[in-house]
This record gives sequence, structure tokens and C-alpha cells, in this order.
Amino acid sequence: MGLTERRQMATEAIHAGETHDPSGAHIAPIFQTSTFTFPDMAAVEARAVGESDSYMYSRGGNPGRKALAAKLAALEGLGLEDSSAEIFGSGMAAIAAALMGTAKAGDHIITQQVLYGSADHLISDVLTQFGVSNSRVAGLEPDALAAELELHPETTAVYMETPANPTMTLIDISATAETAHAAGAKVIVDNTFATPILQRPLSLGADVVVHSTTKFINGHGTVIGGAVVSTDETLMAEEIGSLIRFTGGVPSPFDCWLTNLGLKTLPLRMHQHCANGMAVAEFLQEHPAVASTSYPGLSSHPQHELAGRQMDGFGALIAFDMGSYDAATRFLDQLALCSLAVSLGNVDTLIEHPASMTHAVVPPEERAASGITDGLIRISVGLEASVDIVSDLEQALEA
Ligand SMILES: *Cc1c(COP(=O)(O)O)cnc(C)c1O
Repeated sequence: MGLTERRQMATEAIHAGETHDPSGAHIAPIFQTSTFTFPDMAAVEARAVGESDSYMYSRGGNPGRKALAAKLAALEGLGLEDSSAEIFGSGMAAIAAALMGTAKAGDHIITQQVLYGSADHLISDVLTQFGVSNSRVAGLEPDALAAELELHPETTAVYMETPANPTMTLIDISATAETAHAAGAKVIVDNTFATPILQRPLSLGADVVVHSTTKFINGHGTVIGGAVVSTDETLMAEEIGSLIRFTGGVPSPFDCWLTNLGLKTLPLRMHQHCANGMAVAEFLQEHPAVASTSYPGLSSHPQHELAGRQMDGFGALIAFDMGSYDAATRFLDQLALCSLAVSLGNVDTLIEHPASMTHAVVPPEERAASGITDGLIRISVGLEASVDIVSDLEQALEA
């Protein structure tokens, strides 16, 4: 969609993509329907020759899904001429479409060492069965990436996650895009942790952004969903977005409606998530029972300077190390306010143990190489009063 006027993020989050129903309903209804009727064969023909973009069947498209896609495209593409999005039934369906759309049999994917567990498995153990090979370059450092691209001229996609799940290491998006594009490869960025409020990869040179909308974008823990956004119209129309029809990973109309509602408050929520994240990170860093704390907003983070350059805020995800599995377990069992649960980006504070939860699917030797120790804990700081979150952590650390 073209952004004719440049409105700010908070305004776009509320107004972009919104349609007003002919009934006069201010909030668009949920189009809970599988199929759409045509008044006559002339309408069928008009659609067939591309003179009308009316709906036919909800796997191909649904008004609520289209509205949500337009809103997300406006946010990720803020300030850019054109961006378009497709909404999927989960983040993994979106990631699978982005990778299948950019890498075919005989092609190669280069990615970083530490990745979301299921994305890691998809690249390492699923796509390889369809003739798509892969290799890893630890932090996608430009020189090492350039060498790997030379070694693998068949590379069509460089896939990254920044900040990375769960260690909170960062990748320089602009530098990666420059290196990858010089070798003719597309750049895909998983922007789930930062959201378009804190980081806009398309503006930094990336070709494709993927999201688990399950997390901050919905924000309330009610939906599993995903999205792909790109400024490359041909890539979206012919390779990635169209895959939703043929692989069928569609979201329900109700889930799109809930996600659209959540997305309207994303700018406001991210603002508070960042403030609470910083308060919790500073507390953890100072506590003697915590061996190490990784949060891009702390000056102790090795890539704090890069975070300041490529992000508009540091988010609400923190990784910290309790030193051992036993210490991590004692601490987690003692929490009262924070919920022991995977997922992230909810209004509630969620805390988890990556080695036995989100990253259990990653083999132990790879977990070790990625810095996912048995004492590592990941917290997604919610929107409760930060003093209450800190006091729950404090009592559990001191018990
Ligand atoms: C949760 C998550 C995914 C997967 O998304 P689902 O909606 O669970 O399929 C992918 N990437 C990151 C960074 C995630 O946190």
C-alpha cells in the first residue's frame, strides 16, 4: 500500500487499514465466513480478469485479514513508498513462507548461530529435506558473511533475528544487507522482539520482515499468528504472499480481529515495556545472585552502541544467568507474580528456562555453541508496575 501522507506511528497504529462498514459500525465486524457470494456471472468474470478484487474464499483473502495486513505494512514501512503484508496462522507459517519463497531446491540459506528454536529446526532439519542447504556465521559479521557468500554462490537468502532469542545478541541489519545484496541474496529479518515501533528493518535495507504476531503485536496472549512484510512487490505477489493459498497457513477472521485490536495500542505498550525492561535489567545486573545479565539497553551489553544506532528503544526481553540449572530452578519455583511460561510480549510478565522450554528442540552441543547455558533464564517484562515485578524477582532471588 502507498503511504500518501506521512502520519506518525501512533496515528498509523490506530487508523491504517481501518474500513468502516456500510452498517455504520465504527469498529469493523468479524467476517466469520468461509465463502463469499457473487451477484451474477458478470461479477465472477470481472474478478477473473482482474477488474475487481472482490473476495471469493477466505483462504485466499478475508476483509479482516486485509485490514490487519495494511496496518502492519504501514508500521513496518513507515516513511517508505510501498510495502505490503500477508497475515499467517502463526509466526512459523510466516517464516516458512518467507524461506520457501526465497530459497528453492539447490539454493542455500546463511543464518546466524543462535535462532528461535523452531526456526532453527526448520532451516537445519526440514528445508534440507527439500534440497535447501544452510550454513551458519556466528554473528553474521560482514567479513565472515562475505567469505561464506563467496564459498556458497548459490545463496539466495540471509536470515537473521535481532535481538536474537534468547541470548539478546544483535546483528547489524544495514551492514548485513549491504554484504548480502552485493552477492545477490535477499535479507529476511525476524522483527518479533523489537516490533516496528523499536526497529524498522525495511528502512535499514532488509527485503523481508517476518513476525510472530502472537507476541507484542497482539500483546494480550490470546492468539497465535504471524506476518510477512516486504517492499518487494514481485517477491510478495509471486513467491511469498501467494504461498498462503497453497500451503494454507491462514489465520481465522476472529484472530485477525483480535490482533488488529491489540496492534492499535502497540506504540503505547512498547513505550512502557521499554521503561519496565530497563528497570528490571538494572535490578538484575546489580543483584549478587545473578551471574550475568544481557539487555541491549545496558552499557555492559557488548553491542549497546549498535542497539542505540539501529533501535528506537531496547524492548522488554532480558536474558540472565543464574550459574546453574539448580539455581535457576530454585529461583523459578519461588516466583509468585511472574508466570513460568514460554511466549513473550504479553501485558503480563512471562519467564522461562530456554534450555528446557523454548530451545529444548536445539541439540545440546548447538545450545552450548549459542550460549544457551543450563542456568540461563529469559524474562519478558510485562506492563505491571515495575516495582511489583522487581519485588517478586527480589523475593525469589533471596529465598
Ligand atoms: C514465537 C516466535 C516465533 C514463532 O512464532 P509462532 O507464532 O509461535 O509460530 C518466531 N520467532 C520468534 C523470535 C519468536 O519469538
